[in-house]
Amino acid sequence: MDTLSANTGRQILLAVVSAIQENAAYLSELDGATGDGDHGVNMNKGFTSFRNKLGDAPVTVSDGLSTLGSTLLTEIGGAMGPLYGTLFMAMGSACENESSITREIFADMLTNALNEVQDLGGAAVGDKTLLDTLVPALEAYKAALANDLSFADALRQMTAAAEAGKESTREMVAKLGRASRLGERSRGHLDAGATSCYLILNALATAMIAELS
Ligand code: ADP
Ligand code: MG
Repeated sequence: MDTLSANTGRQILLAVVSAIQENAAYLSELDGATGDGDHGVNMNKGFTSFRNKLGDAPVTVSDGLSTLGSTLLTEIGGAMGPLYGTLFMAMGSACENESSITREIFADMLTNALNEVQDLGGAAVGDKTLLDTLVPALEAYKAALANDLSFADALRQMTAAAEAGKESTREMVAKLGRASRLGERSRGHLDAGATSCYLILNALATAMIAELS
């Protein structure tokens, strides 16, 4: 019960697409409070375009993530196309040519994603961005592996930390992107990107747990 077959890409990526589609209005509403209200619209457009490319055939986790990444990079506007595009491409490249994904390989996938997004966007924890979700999620995941938790339990710890990280953005003042123009007035609102990042990690983890064998 502790590896993920590489051939489960379709099931896993469909779960991520659904999470974004179902929450598109909510994400735009969050972005409306501190930004321009387009986050859910942008994300839905990119993820739905990827869904249409995916078709009905099986796909590897690596190929699915890479195609999602390149679709977002080329088709979504705003801050998020390049950032999430890079994140998914980095995850996909970290498991290229693997026939199964172990808990350690998934740690490499998340680490690669975090490094590349940080290099590109220059954000740090506390800036009120998606990194406030991703950084604690990866830390919790790595801590779970250090404690020799199962793949499924490590994913559960990751999701719980992602949720707490997302919630932590409510009290933050935005330091980057459009929301930073509001200064103190950005406080009191969840960050839209931190929320989409939580929804993505939660969907990914839930679908992966269901596919472990
Ligand atoms: P835009 O700000 O161009 O309208 P979106 O609304 O799609 O783009 O995305 C806004 C989200 O982008 C914010 O909620 C924040 O989480 C994220 N963000 C902005 N700048 C950065 C950055 N430099 N690094 C990481 N995330 C960022
Ligand atoms: Mg926006």
